[in-house]
Amino acid sequence: MFFCKNSFFFTYKKSFFYICISVNLSNFITFLAQIGFHHCVFFQKTLKFLPDMQLTNRAKQVSNTQMTFAEKIYLPAIVTGLGITIKHFFKKKVTIQYPEQQRPMSPVFRGLHVLKRDEEGRERCTACGLCALACPAEAITMVAAERKPSEEHLYREEKYAAVYEINMLRCIFCGLCEEACPKEAIFLQNDVIAPAFHSRDEVIYGKDKLVEPLKK
Ligand code: SF4
Ligand code: SF4
Repeated sequence: MFFCKNSFFFTYKKSFFYICISVNLSNFITFLAQIGFHHCVFFQKTLKFLPDMQLTNRAKQVSNTQMTFAEKIYLPAIVTGLGITIKHFFKKKVTIQYPEQQRPMSPVFRGLHVLKRDEEGRERCTACGLCALACPAEAITMVAAERKPSEEHLYREEKYAAVYEINMLRCIFCGLCEEACPKEAIFLQNDVIAPAFHSRDEVIYGKDKLVEPLKK
């Protein structure tokens, strides 16, 4: 009988039918058991005696009272909200029209660097390299040069920085270069900030941008 084509097909179909019935039946029994468990009186009573599990103490008991007529039409709430808005019209404005208006900087603000000149207009920097050594961001590079006799009116010391560059992308404005300088040559200004830039070349500040302009 098993080798007969029709019988084999019949046996296969019958097995499949029984498997489906038994799977569905077991699912149905599980479903009924779950409903019974959730709705049984014992389960509900046990839940009532369990302590309230709260992750924070900010839980609020939501009132389930009916809304009053005033609450239903929302008008008092709208009027209260408008009142708060109108009250702010007459208060002192905290915003300013930047960049036309600017707030005063804090006296301890650390802004853009400046390489200072002495009273005679000579560059103070002697290219000792201490600022570069102190810089945690390795933002300072320089090339030292010997002062010529004809340049005494330009540079205060016998050695000067022929090239002095600060990479403003690296700089974190910590002020350590200012503290390390023995010649009081480099300072971070408290009223000038580094301007915005559009290319990487613009953020390498050389002597043309760093050295203090000559006083007239
Ligand atoms: S302010 Fe700080 S990070 Fe910037 S150049 Fe000076 S030492 Fe380096
Ligand atoms: S800025 Fe000051 S610390 Fe830096 S190289 Fe010049 S003299 Fe030295």
